[in-house]
Parts: sequence; structure tokens; C-alpha cells
Amino acid sequence: LVLAAGAALALGLTACGGGQGGAGGDGLADCNVGISMPTRSLERWINDGEQLKALLDDAGCTTDLQYADNQVNQQISQIQNQIASGAKVLVIAAIDGEALGPVLEEAAGQDATVIAYDRLINGTEHVDYYATFDNERVGQLQGQFIIDELGLDGGEGPFNLEPFAGSPDDNNAAFFFGGAWDLLLPYIESGQLVVPSGKQPASSADWASIGIPGWSSDTAQAEMDNRLTSFYTGGERVDVVLSPNDSLALGIQASLRSAGYEPDADWPLLTGQDADVANVQAILAGEQSMTVWKDTRALGQQVFEMIQSILNGEEPEINDTETYDNGVKVVPSYLLDPEVVTADQVEEKLVDSGFIPAEDLGL
Ligand code: BGC
Repeated sequence: LVLAAGAALALGLTACGGGQGGAGGDGLADCNVGISMPTRSLERWINDGEQLKALLDDAGCTTDLQYADNQVNQQISQIQNQIASGAKVLVIAAIDGEALGPVLEEAAGQDATVIAYDRLINGTEHVDYYATFDNERVGQLQGQFIIDELGLDGGEGPFNLEPFAGSPDDNNAAFFFGGAWDLLLPYIESGQLVVPSGKQPASSADWASIGIPGWSSDTAQAEMDNRLTSFYTGGERVDVVLSPNDSLALGIQASLRSAGYEPDADWPLLTGQDADVANVQAILAGEQSMTVWKDTRALGQQVFEMIQSILNGEEPEINDTETYDNGVKVVPSYLLDPEVVTADQVEEKLVDSGFIPAEDLGL
């Protein structure tokens, strides 16, 4: 997979004429791209933004990369500036998936093509393409991991589970939770999984009731503290925590530590997503059980190729035309495959592929 991505990268760069200026290249004239990322507070978005910008810069594009501190209005005004400076393509990882309709109307006014990046943009016809990882699959990988590790299929249990969900304004969060919850629900119904805090949505559609706004580590930590101090007073232990991503998992780890849980002793199973360095370190230290790795380099490459096709007047490659209905239309999508990484796979999957330098992990 990684070799393939590398080869595609080389091809991509050749195809657009070696990066000699926006004008006169191989059909990439007029390559003015605005990239709008949600926040620098999460490692993945820094990598996403910088990787895509580097590909575009090498191809001679004019590229503006902005981060919006998780502030919706800041993101909107950054996109407005990109439109004003002539962006032909906008690549947007939305903070609030519902809030960009008006600004995308402006983008449509100058025929800019809009690519929703990683997160879908809802409630507007002015989103042309969506490039992401298979978000439901992310949740399924987390749910299946829990089922396998606990031996639920073999009838094991009961286990104490604490489920968490992502930010209520992020369209992905519903897919992550739904993917996991639909797999776990039968074991809740059979009594093999029990949720002592009662923080369990009536159905996966009610996931936002346990959503952590802004994907905040601190809020996740406070929520976990609250559950442990309120519902685990009689010596009960938590056996498993469903965390949709790594930033929540970091907060949950801090809470578990302060409640006296110990790795290699009674530390619960804990899921995650993103393979952020701090979390991979936690995986190696026994404080997180897995992460769902989404190779952001592959996503950047896919979006780069989409942009090449768009500017060449061709249809970009799409592999899903039914999943992502934004309330106004089904947005043509390209979905990449996420994969599980556990401690014994860190070296092979994350280090050998160059995703994380060995020295960052003390390897
Ligand atoms: C992304 C995740 C990320 C989360 C928080 C989601 O939309 O898909 O990779 O962990 O946002 O930034």
C-alpha cells in the first residue's frame, strides 16, 4: 500500500510537468487552491495540511493553507479570503458541517470547485466531491476489536463498558459511533456488556447525547472523571472504553491514571483513531489498546489527483456514490481504507512506512 502510494506520488508529480509555475504547466495553469483545516491542536490536521500543500506547491500551484482554531467564524472568513484571492479549488475540512452553506454559495459564484476533505459538508448543493476514509468502517474496526479482545463471541462477560462519541457538529462522528455501536449492541442486549454510567444512547442515532464537543481531550477527561467518581464507587472497575479517536483517548488515559488504574494490571481496553504520536507512545506503554490508522499521506495524494483532474477538465476518480447524502445531494466520494494498529504492529505499519520516525517513539 505504501509503495503504491509512493509510486502514485511520483506519477502525480510527473503528470503535472515537474512544477514549473502555475502558468504553462501540463494543464495545471490556473491552479489556485485554498486549503482550510480546522485546527493545529491535533497532529493529524497539521500533517494533512502540510502534505497537500507540498504536493500542490511542487506542481507549481498557488496554495493558501489556513487553520481556524476550531472557530467556525474564523474558518468562514478564511474561506472568504481564499475566494477573494481567486481560488479555483477549495479543499475544506469543516469545523461545523452545517455552517458553510452561505460561504460556499460565494465560491460557486466564481465557479470554484469544492472538495470536502475528511469531513462532509452538509446542507448545500455547492460541495462537488468528498474525499475521506471509510468512516463507518473506522467505527466497525473499533467495535470488532472490542468484541474479539473480550471474547464476546465465546460468551465472555459481563464487562463494564464506557462509550464515548465525537463532536456533535462533525458529520464523521455519527458514522464512527454508528459503526461501532451497531456491532456492540447485541452484546449489551445479551448482558455481556454493561454500561454502569448509563451513558448509552437509546440507539446509535442518539449518539450526540454522549458527544464530546470539539473533540476536546480535556472535556473527555472531565467526563471520564465524572463517570468514575459517580458510578464506580463500590469498587467496580471499568473493563473497556470505546473512544472514537486519539484526542479523546488521551483525556481518558489521564482520567484512568488519576483514578489509579495501572497498565499491565487493571488498565481497560481503550480504542482510538489517527495514530497520533502521543497515542502510539501510549499504545507502546500499555495505556491504549489500538488506534485506527488513516494514512493521511494517501488522502492527500488522492485529493491532489482529484485537483489535477478537475483542473484538466476531467472527472476525478470516485468510488462511492451512495453513502454520503448531505441533505441536499449525495456527494460523489472517494473512500480510503482505514486499518487497525496494535502494539505489535507499530513498527511494521507506522515506522517502516515512514509515517512516524522511529526516534519519536524511542525505537
Ligand atoms: C477526523 C478524525 C479526527 C477528528 C478530530 C474527525 O473528523 O476524521 O480523524 O480524530 O475529526 O479532529
